Amino acid sequence: MLILVVNSGSSSLKYQVRDTDTHEILTKGLIDRIGESEVPDHRAALLRLSEEVGQALQEKKIEAVGHRVVHGGERFSQPVLVDNEITRAIERLSPLAPLHNPASAMGIRAVAERYPGIPQVAVFDTAFHRTLPPRAWRYAIPTPLYRRYGIRRYGFHGTSCGYVSELAAEFLGIPLEEFDAVVAHLGNGASVTALQGGRSIDTSMGFTPLAGLVMGTRSGDIDPSILVFLAREGYSADDIDSLLNRESGLLALSGNTDMREITSAAEAGDQQAELALEISAYRLAKYIGGYHVAVGGARAIIFTAGIGENDAAFRARVVALLGALNVRIDEAANSVRSNEVRRISTADSAIEVLVVPTDEEEAIAEATAETVLAAGRE
Ligand code: ADP
Repeated sequence: MLILVVNSGSSSLKYQVRDTDTHEILTKGLIDRIGESEVPDHRAALLRLSEEVGQALQEKKIEAVGHRVVHGGERFSQPVLVDNEITRAIERLSPLAPLHNPASAMGIRAVAERYPGIPQVAVFDTAFHRTLPPRAWRYAIPTPLYRRYGIRRYGFHGTSCGYVSELAAEFLGIPLEEFDAVVAHLGNGASVTALQGGRSIDTSMGFTPLAGLVMGTRSGDIDPSILVFLAREGYSADDIDSLLNRESGLLALSGNTDMREITSAAEAGDQQAELALEISAYRLAKYIGGYHVAVGGARAIIFTAGIGENDAAFRARVVALLGALNVRIDEAANSVRSNEVRRISTADSAIEVLVVPTDEEEAIAEATAETVLAAGRE
């Protein structure tokens, strides 16, 4: 099936056309600066997209469109075929994802206008974490805050997490329903997820993608009283939002967001860069230890996304902190560069350590094709 995968951001739109039979990427592109004069809105962006895609595909036709949607709230636990009511539901969740959900809804409407009648599927970043038990998703704050505002842990990176966990279970020859593991998705945004029987039972991101690990520009976990303190010092809500989401994390600690540059700075003796790496690895190692307990003993630790797949030195740093769990890295295997699923732990390591390249677009294309085919059978 030929699937157009659309990732709508507030000012950009990324797309790929995937063939789910051959796993080929037929074309891909990025339309950015939406809102500026040349591309005033998502409709204009979609028009440009359809021209680019039309030229690239020639006589071939797109059969369905899959959208990455950041927030599915408590309602969506799997991909769904989109209709007007679903689009409105995505919009209603905007308070929970103010930058992302409105853009997704606009993207869906623009596709409906440009490709009338084509089936569209929404694939939610939160859906994979709908299996979290209350002990993991409930915050210890008064219940009305949950009821009124939906303040609870949702978790993100679910599409990637589901995709790599299936590949990892297959690689190890463990049925997915019996697969207990810890997945570390380490990109610009980073999260860790505890898998029990192939399902998410805990995850480090929370009400928003700010919680948990140290990220490129996000603080991850901090004492919430720091926010109150800053508010009393005169910081506005927007100041605090920007401070924690865009000016913190690796950037604040080292002056840089790119792990390659931080690593070379640290190697050249930059103490701040070294500390940034130490803090990040330490936080992640504590989460892995905690989730090993949460899942009742993980069979595997999975590294994925930009840093997880490419940064051998950072993986080695994290695994070195897991000595108490008898996890051991195989230095030679760890330093191999590859796009394949691979084991990087020693034969006597108590837990297997794997690198599993993620591919969110592939996962969205497959979910879209499956959802459309299932709807056709009904
Ligand atoms: P996003 O969350 O934007 O999808 P990615 O998964 O592409 O992010 O990851 C981006 C991060 O991956 C960058 O911060 C970069 O530091 C890191 N990265 C990419 N390639 C390498 C590499 N060869 N070595 C170390 N880090 C890398």
